[in-house]
Amino acid sequence: MYASSLENNRVPMFSGLIAYRWGAAIELRITKEKTMTVSMNTPNVSLSSIKRINDLSGENVKLCMQCGTCTAACPMADEMDFVPRKVMHYNQFGMIAAMEDINSYWKCASCHSCSVRCPRGIDIAKVMEALRQLVLRTSKNYIEPSRIPPEKLKQYPGIMMVAGFRKLTS
Ligand code: SF4
Ligand code: SF4
Repeated sequence: MYASSLENNRVPMFSGLIAYRWGAAIELRITKEKTMTVSMNTPNVSLSSIKRINDLSGENVKLCMQCGTCTAACPMADEMDFVPRKVMHYNQFGMIAAMEDINSYWKCASCHSCSVRCPRGIDIAKVMEALRQLVLRTSKNYIEPSRIPPEKLKQYPGIMMVAGFRKLTS
């Protein structure tokens, strides 16, 4: 919790929530003595997770201004649990754990349509790759090769299998 000019012993004339999003609350409090307190309560924000995703991707997710251009450009957005803009928003708060079971970064085709259009110059495809790596490093696979029926294995092109296993298995 961050707070400035905390005046605990004064009765507030006004006290209220002025913004709330993704678990971050900003409260404003004004006392009769005309002192103003602004406090931010951020129970869900993980600075270490923000650093981790930035380190892994080489990008700065905090630059995102939530314009949604990445989602508009994404050919896979309709298939994703969270559209790219929402993935970026969760990353900005370090809410990686909340994205553990979503399919967005697995569905991402690494086409870079979003990256070349982002007005803040963020390579979103790299952020998606970083999220995949976080899961793969825990030895979890998105697809299990042993569960693919043998008759299907005979039908699938080899290059597709190699590309799929590289991207979706640890
Ligand atoms: S295009 Fe860039 S700035 Fe806009 S929402 Fe996507 S990541 Fe954020
Ligand atoms: S790189 Fe991934 S997130 Fe970006 S537009 Fe392509 S499929 Fe969508």
